[in-house]
Amino acid sequence: KLSRRLSLLLEQIPAGATVADIGSDHALLPLAAVQTRRAERAIAGEVNPGPFRAAQKAVQDAGLGDLISVRRGDGLAVLQPGEADCITIAGMGGSLIAAILQRGAEQGKLTGVRRLLLQPNVGEDILRRWLLANGWVLTAEGLLEEDGKRYEVLTAEPEDPEAGRTNDALYANAAEAGGAKPYSMETLLLMGPWLIRQRGPVFVDKWEDEIRKLERIFHSLSKSELESADEKRTEFESRLREIREVLS
Ligand code: SAM
Repeated sequence: KLSRRLSLLLEQIPAGATVADIGSDHALLPLAAVQTRRAERAIAGEVNPGPFRAAQKAVQDAGLGDLISVRRGDGLAVLQPGEADCITIAGMGGSLIAAILQRGAEQGKLTGVRRLLLQPNVGEDILRRWLLANGWVLTAEGLLEEDGKRYEVLTAEPEDPEAGRTNDALYANAAEAGGAKPYSMETLLLMGPWLIRQRGPVFVDKWEDEIRKLERIFHSLSKSELESADEKRTEFESRLREIREVLS
């Protein structure tokens, strides 16, 4: 059975899409996407030989070799421009996902892509920053807890002013949700422009844990006599203040 984490990605693949899952490991997501007929076809990309063979075998065993193409290569290099209309990248750090998208964009591999479904394990803010800087608008954010871990799923679509889909509008609306003291861009990129408004129970747990973690680091820095500790302390203090304000 597909994990809830991957199910959340699956549900957001546009009907009839050709989906490319990059870093596919056992090709669980492409298999589910084609088996449930959500996607018409799929591509599973893997850079490492072990996971690549695992993906090949899983697709063969399922008898879906005609509909799922398993390819070995780095990031979006496995794609022809215009081949996929939805790209999923899950289970890696946000900075690695951003680097894969950046290289892919430079190679024209994002042309024709109408949705990105991204699940960073850490560094969500780095990924949000990349999307913002590169004309992708977050259209949804999900957060779930499974087996003691928390996962964010980011959905992004190309900026389209005619359809009213712009980053300016997204972040201006999200900032206003802060009320008398609008949320700062830093806060929104850190916590998520949709998640901050949804404020679900997992969101509150996640950031309460983060506050505790930052407090611990802050206290150990307070004991440090290194000069650089001062600077770090100021940084942690302002981040703590930011998060506390959102939760208060
Ligand atoms: N996407 C699956 C999931 O979410 O369950 C697998 C996640 S697994 C932790 C990360 C996978 O990404 C590994 O199989 C790794 O080989 C692959 N990977 C890492 N860097 C990659 C890259 N630049 N291009 C393609 N695959 C990559």
